[in-house]
Parts: sequence; C-alpha cells; structure tokens
Amino acid sequence: MVRYVYDFTEGGRDLADLLGGKGANLAEMTRLGLPVPLGFIVSTEACRAFLATGTEPGGMSEEISRRLSAVEADAGRRLGQPDHPLLVSVRSGARFSMPGMMETVLDIGLNDDSVLGLAKASGNERFAWDSYRRLVQMFGSTVMGVEGALFDRIMTGLKELRGAPDDLHLDAADLAELVEAYKQLIHEETGDHFPQSPAEQLRRAILAVFRSWNGERARLYRRREHIPDDLGTAVTVQRMVYGNLGADSGSGVAFTRDPATGRPGLYGDYLPNAQGEDVVAGIRNTVPLAELERFAPDAHHQLRDHMVTLERHYRDLCDIEFTIERGKLWMLQTRVGKRTAEAAFTIAAELADEGVITREEGLTRVSGGGLARLMFPRFDTSTIDEPLANGIPASPGAAVGAVVFDSAEAVRRAAAGEKVILVREETTPDDLPGMVAAQAVLTSRGGKTSHAAVVARGMGKVCVCGAEQLAVDTASRRFTTGDGTIVEQGTVISVDGSAGAVYAGAVPMTDSAVMRYLETGERPPGVVDTVARALELADGLRRLEVRANADTPADAVRARRFGAQGIGLCRTEHMFLGERRKLVEEMILARDDGARTRALDALLPLQQQDFVGILEAMDGLPVTIRLLDPPLHEFLPDRTELAVRIAATEARGEKPNPRDVELLDAIRRMHEENPMLGLRGVRLGLVVPGLVAMQVRAIAQAVVERTRAGGAPQAEIMVPLVGDVTELRLVRQEVEQVLAEVSDESGVPVHCPVGTMIELPRAALTAGLIAEEAEFFSFGTNDLTQTTWGFSRDDVEAAFFSAYLDKGVFAASPFETIDREGVGRLVEIAVAEGRATRPGLKIGVCGEHGGDPDSVHFFHASGLDYVSCSPFRVPAARLEAGRAACSEATTSDTR
Ligand code: ADP
Ligand code: MG
Ligand code: MG
Repeated sequence: MVRYVYDFTEGGRDLADLLGGKGANLAEMTRLGLPVPLGFIVSTEACRAFLATGTEPGGMSEEISRRLSAVEADAGRRLGQPDHPLLVSVRSGARFSMPGMMETVLDIGLNDDSVLGLAKASGNERFAWDSYRRLVQMFGSTVMGVEGALFDRIMTGLKELRGAPDDLHLDAADLAELVEAYKQLIHEETGDHFPQSPAEQLRRAILAVFRSWNGERARLYRRREHIPDDLGTAVTVQRMVYGNLGADSGSGVAFTRDPATGRPGLYGDYLPNAQGEDVVAGIRNTVPLAELERFAPDAHHQLRDHMVTLERHYRDLCDIEFTIERGKLWMLQTRVGKRTAEAAFTIAAELADEGVITREEGLTRVSGGGLARLMFPRFDTSTIDEPLANGIPASPGAAVGAVVFDSAEAVRRAAAGEKVILVREETTPDDLPGMVAAQAVLTSRGGKTSHAAVVARGMGKVCVCGAEQLAVDTASRRFTTGDGTIVEQGTVISVDGSAGAVYAGAVPMTDSAVMRYLETGERPPGVVDTVARALELADGLRRLEVRANADTPADAVRARRFGAQGIGLCRTEHMFLGERRKLVEEMILARDDGARTRALDALLPLQQQDFVGILEAMDGLPVTIRLLDPPLHEFLPDRTELAVRIAATEARGEKPNPRDVELLDAIRRMHEENPMLGLRGVRLGLVVPGLVAMQVRAIAQAVVERTRAGGAPQAEIMVPLVGDVTELRLVRQEVEQVLAEVSDESGVPVHCPVGTMIELPRAALTAGLIAEEAEFFSFGTNDLTQTTWGFSRDDVEAAFFSAYLDKGVFAASPFETIDREGVGRLVEIAVAEGRATRPGLKIGVCGEHGGDPDSVHFFHASGLDYVSCSPFRVPAARLEAGRAACSEATTSDTR
C-alpha cells in the first residue's frame, strides 16, 4: 500500500524528494528537539498522482484525517472547534526551495462561529478577527482564485477611511468589517461562498497547494532555475502558532551568516505583532534581529542557540523563519540559505578554516556561475557623486538602466533591447517577469530577507532594497528622493547592489577585484583570496585540462593569465579578412594554377606571422590550429551591394569594372542555399588546390621560426568537418608532405600532430575508423549540436527556442548546455570507439560548451582530456573541472 502522509517524527532532510524541502527540514528540526508546532506532511507523490489524474489518490484523505486526529489529540481541541478552535496552516514545499512561488494558507479552521470562540479563549478579540480576515483573504485568492489586489484595495480603502497608517491601527470591529467585505468580494467574483466547514477548508487548501505547482509564477521560476517540472510539491499541515497576539508576539526571519557577504554573525528581521509573511512583505518597518532582545529576551536567547545548533548540524548557512507567541519561540522553517556568489566563496572558505567542512566540500559549494558573476565590473567609485538614495545592499553587482515601475513595462522595454531598473515599493511574486527582465531591482521597503532581496540573490541580479528615502509613486510612474528630486519613468540611474547606493545617470564601471586578480595576480585578503584558494584547490584536483579558444596573440596572452593550458581552438578565418580579403578574392577568381599560387604565396607570409605571434604567446603549450572552415563566399563582397553597384554604373551608361563583374559571377556561382551544410571545412581543402598546403606551410614555417628563436612551439593541426576517414586521410597526406618539405628546407624537424574535429554525427559514429588517421579528436559541439538536431543556430534561436523552453522540449538551450541524451551520446560513442582504435587518444572539446559549468561535468564524466572555451570562461571551467573531480558521483549544483 502506498503511503501519502508522514509525521514530522518520521522524516528527515534526506527525504526531501518525498516531503519537499520545507517538510523534510521541519522533520529534521523536530528530531533535533527544536520547538516546532506539531504537524504532518502530504508527500510529493500524492501531488504527482493528483496532478496526473485530477483526483485525490485513494486513501489520501483517510490518512490525512488520521494524522489530523493525532494533532487534535495533542492540542486537546478539534480543528475549528467552535468554543476554542485548533487552527492549522497548509504550506507548500517542493524538493528545491522556490520562495514565494507557490501558495500557503494560514489560520484554517476559522469560521463565523469559531472566530468568536478564538476571541474568547485567547482573550483577544482583535487577534481573532485579524486571523479570520487573513484566512478569508488567503483562501479567497489561493483557493478560490480571486485576484489578491482586490483584497488589498479594500484594506487600503478602510485604512484611509480610518486614517490608519498601518494594519495595527485597525481594531477588532474594523477587522470584522473587513471579513464581511472580503466574503462579499469572494461571492461577487466567484458566485460561491467562503466555506464555513473547517474540513472543507482543509481539503480544498491542500488541493490548491497541489495545483499551485503548475501556477504561472512557479513555472517561470522553475524554468529559470532549471528545476524539473515533474517533481510536484509536498503539503505541510501544521498547527498554527500566533505572532499576532500582541506586543509580546511577532514573527521573523533570520540567517546564521550574512547572505550578501558571507560574513559571520546572525542577521535577520523581526516584526512585532505580525503573522506569517508580514515581516517580508514590507507592510511595516521591521526591526533588526539584535533588537529582538528588547521585546522577548528569553526567546531571543533561545533563537541564538537554535541557530548555532542548526548551522552546526547542517554545516552551512541556514535561513530560518520563526514566530514568537506570547514570549514563546517557535521554529517554523529552516533551510540551507541562498546566498550571493561572494558569500558562497567566503562561507565555504570560513567553514573549511573552522574545520566544519573539508576543503573539497568547500569547493563543491562554490560554482563557476558564481565565479563568473564575481568577474563582472563594478562602479568606479572615484567618479561617483552623492547618491540619490541609500538602501540595503541586498544583492551585489553594478547595473545601469532606465527606471520602470511595473513588471510589464520592464518586460516590454527589455524585449526592445533597453536596459531597465525595476523600481517598486516592494516586490511580490507577480513581479517576477519584470525582475527577470531588469538589470536591477530597487525597492523602498523591506530588508535583506524581503521578497525582492531573496529572489534577486537567487538570480544573481543586482538589488538594493529598503531605500526608505524614496517615495515610490507607481501610479504616476515616478519616485521622489529624500531631497525632493523627482525621477520619472525612463530616466537612467545606476544601482550599486554591493554598497546599497543609487545614483543618477550612468556611473562608469571598473573591473572587479576578482578580475584584477586574474589579470595581474594581485590578491588582497577577503573574497579575492578565497576565490584564489578555491581555484588553486580545483587545479590540484581536476583531471580535465582547460584550454582556451583564441585566435590572436592578445587573446592567447589573456587566456594564459587566466590559467589556460594551451589553445584548443585557433580559428584561421579572421586571418583572411580585412586587407587580406583582396588576396582571397584573387585566389577565388584565379583562372589558372599560376594566378592561384601567386595569391596563396602572398597570403602565406601574413598567416605565418599570425601563427608566430600566437605560438610565442603560448610558448611551451599546445596550440590547436584549425584549417580554414567557413565557405569561401563569406570572404566575398555582399551580392546585392555589388549587383546594385554594377547596375548603377550601367544605368549611367558606363562600363562596369570588369573585376566587379567577375566577382559577381563568382558569388552567383558559389551561392549556397544552406552554407552551413555546404562547401566548407575539409571539403574546401579537398577541392581548392593549394589551400591546405599554404596554411600548413605557414604553420610549419612559424614553428621553424619560433624554434630558431629558442622557443618551444607546439602546434597541432586540426581538420574541420570531417565525416569520413578518407577525407582526413587525403588531407593528412598533404599535411605530412608539406611538413616534410619544410623540415628538409629548414633543417629544423617539424612535428605537428594531425587530428580532426568531431562535429558531424557521421564522424562520431565512425570514430573508430577516423581514429586510424587522427592523432587527436576535438568535439566541435556547436556544429555537432546543429547537425544532430538538424537545425541551424542562427535560424532557430530567435524563431522558436523560447517556445521550446516554454513547452518543456528543452530544459536549457542545447547551445548553452550540452544535450546529454543526444549530442552527449554521440560524444560517448566517439570517445569509446576512438580510443578502442587508438588507446590513449587525446580528446577535447572546443565548442563553447567547454566553458559551461554543467557541460564541464559531463565532459569530465565522459573521460575527455580537456575542455576549451573563450578566455573569460577559463577560470569558471577550471573551478568546475575541480568540482567535477571531487564530487565525481554527485550531481552538483553549478549555478
Ligand atoms: P513560503 O514558502 O512562501 O515561505 P510558508 O509555508 O513558509 O511559505 O508560509 C508563509 C508564512 O507563514 C511564513 O512566514 C511562515 O513562517 C508562516 N507560517 C506557516 N505556517 C505557520 C504556522 N503553523 N504558524 C504560524 N505561522 C506560520
Ligand atoms: Mg517560508
Ligand atoms: Mg564547426
């Protein structure tokens, strides 16, 4: 028999798949002996079954009744009991935390009778009505689908009528009036009544939480965070504890370390006389955790102890929700907390220094994605004027953009290519699309744990929150600063999420300290030092080598500074551009061998000097040079332009330039419907006489020149787009012949390994044969992805990728993260069959996937020797290759 419901005493954090993160951690805290209100968890399995069939799985409701009876027995009263009701919360919680993305309903069990019982039993009428109006609102919006803003409007209207600055100034009669207005609203909007039966409330709330898994917000969040759509949410049902019972009650959130910087010390916000989300919703100003001591000294003390216990137990930064009911502390949630990249490096290093975790474990807790974020520029503080406003530095980084005041406008402008900053009083989950679209988020309310702050940090987005001097007027689309400056929609501002400052205009940026370290080796203590240590550790552990894709000496020098161990892809096509284009044209137009040879002879010394520069920059390290890959017509002038020029000349009655006519003729002859699948790569080398010989001679002579200069050049020659071993054999014969000639002529023996790219499915599938001729393989995963899927990147990305992501065909773009099942399988086949033919065959990847954190783990697992990526991604690839080596079997988070 399948079980769908579990007690807090039965689970633990290892059961997060089944119980969701929230449920599993509540169970874990219960087992640690922390004060957690009693409850039970309906499993994700039940949710999946419900979402698949649309009906409750058999036996679930009986199990829920049984567990509820146990909670009732413990409390000594029944759910909704009229004279003294037990109330419960119904909370969502998936395997991965999705803060605020799904629904939670508090105070279930209240109705027109039991609200009176609660008032009497608690001796606090206002509290009872406050709880009831919360239930009607949450139930009305979450379960019955009434737009949340409509409730807010009623509440705001009443506050204005009473001249009440906030909810605390509404009394019991006001709140009772609100309940009536809310119930009427529900009836008007749905034609249905707010249910009075506590059992019905509970059942419908549970199903609504299940359904909220497929809500639009939740889907969008999952797509962004690469969380699978089929996990489902668990539902936690838990006895209510009350933070809204008066001044000695309240609710709060806290972190065991600073989630923005990683510095040790407890951080948090507390809101007296408040329930649930009030503390993060910015309805009133919160007090810092340290001041909790004034309100509830014992609870404050206990909370500190529990936080230490939790951090020790989880061996990581924990974030916590708690409530104080008449001086007594209750723990309502904990989880390993989200943090900025800076905090991740700092916390990992500190916990390792403290001996709490091993160095290797520390490495698994930082990520290439985080490192990449730390390499972004920051504002140049030397040029900054006085800020427009200061707020809480909630998520670091620097962003410049035009001010917008709502999510839709942010999305609209961003889609048109504009950089925007979303400014709100506070954000709600409905603002998510706008936050995604914006460069930064700025709010006038809320602390480090507000919705804006938590979500922005999770996205790695710049955020300043709680900038209280700002008066945000969303309706007229402007804000006013402390000194009365008015900033209208569309005005450009700069937001510094590391300092918590907001500036007028576009402040210039400077490199990050981490970038400076990578460029110069300058290594101040603090986050730079922790990054450096993590990279050193990764370098010591990793099995994958990391090379760079670089075509110029300048790129090669930078790549080397960033730790590249060679060049995995040196493209030669740019060497055919600029002024040299003329020579390429002549080569293409040549009517006989003589003319062609003259053109190639003129190109040769130029190419040779390019190679000398790169081999010098990478002296002692391998440089894989790819023979010319793109179709030749890419080097010819634009067809239309040329045709127009000729026509215009003729129209004037003049004779067009004969060279133009010849060129146009060549362009027409060489036109291809699908250039990507046309005359390019090795095919060019086989049909354009002398092209391969010229390039190889340039390489070989560069090697000779560098050797004579005392260098240690290590050129490798790579043939692109091979599909059949014979293609490679023919080119290779020519290569070997030229190498031998140059060796003879110069007296300097030139040995260059000759290998091939594997970028066609046929190459992967015949890798065993190709390996007979190839001294190395390098996966060109861009073309391999295009040819495996049968789509051309330039055509498909704009046309339908976002639809494919929406519909869940892709979890991520296969051009960003390797498609393990398809393209990855071809990689695995080629590795196995290539090495079966030629044991020890050197294999790398030179598509941009080589710098994608998730893909790096795949290439590690596939037994590749190296990855190669653009210079800026080299540090992240080093880090991820190290992580892959120390978390061999685990699927580590690379975000
Ligand atoms: P989310 O996942 O959006 O944080 P939660 O399930 O944690 O949603 O609940 C929303 C708010 O309600 C939180 O502040 C939480 O602490 C509070 N809450 C949940 N259950 C209870 C309860 N049984 N008693 C008091 N407060 C609760
Ligand atoms: Mg919560
Ligand atoms: Mg290619």
